[in-house]
Amino acid sequence: MRKFNLVLALFVSALVLVSCKEAKKAKKGVEDVATKVTETAKKAVSESKEAVVVIEANDAMQYNTKKIVVKAGQTVKLTLKNVGKMAKSAMGHNFVLLKKGTDMAKFATDAMKAKATDYIPAGDLIIVHTKLLGGGEEDTITFEAPEKGEYDFLCSFPGHYAMMKGKFVVE
Ligand code: ZN
Repeated sequence: MRKFNLVLALFVSALVLVSCKEAKKAKKGVEDVATKVTETAKKAVSESKEAVVVIEANDAMQYNTKKIVVKAGQTVKLTLKNVGKMAKSAMGHNFVLLKKGTDMAKFATDAMKAKATDYIPAGDLIIVHTKLLGGGEEDTITFEAPEKGEYDFLCSFPGHYAMMKGKFVVE
């Protein structure tokens, strides 16, 4: 009988050990889920602080958008993709964001003469710009959204701005 009791005691303690382990596992599971939820929440916050903008430009001398809207205080991550096939020298595209109140026609005329710098003229009228891209190329720029308002953007390749322009709105 004593032997039986000993076996029983061993069995019970083994059982207790196992259930302890299970409890620990379950606790870890809950902690993992909690960590995941926190990470997701953090990600959502950082995403709202960042505006991801993707624009395409093509061989038909067009952007696929005429209006970009972001929020004040956001970091803008803007990618320009030249989805065309033509060479940069024939159908190059860029994205140039102008300071408020800039005379776009005058700017574009100055840009035309700036071939050596990929049609980015000297001066301080530009907030930000991408590289000049040939077919199949892309460039990403990151910048802080300027103050609330409406800004003009254009492609400064000679002759393109008449078709390749739009509004960049910060609200
Ligand atoms: Zn262009």
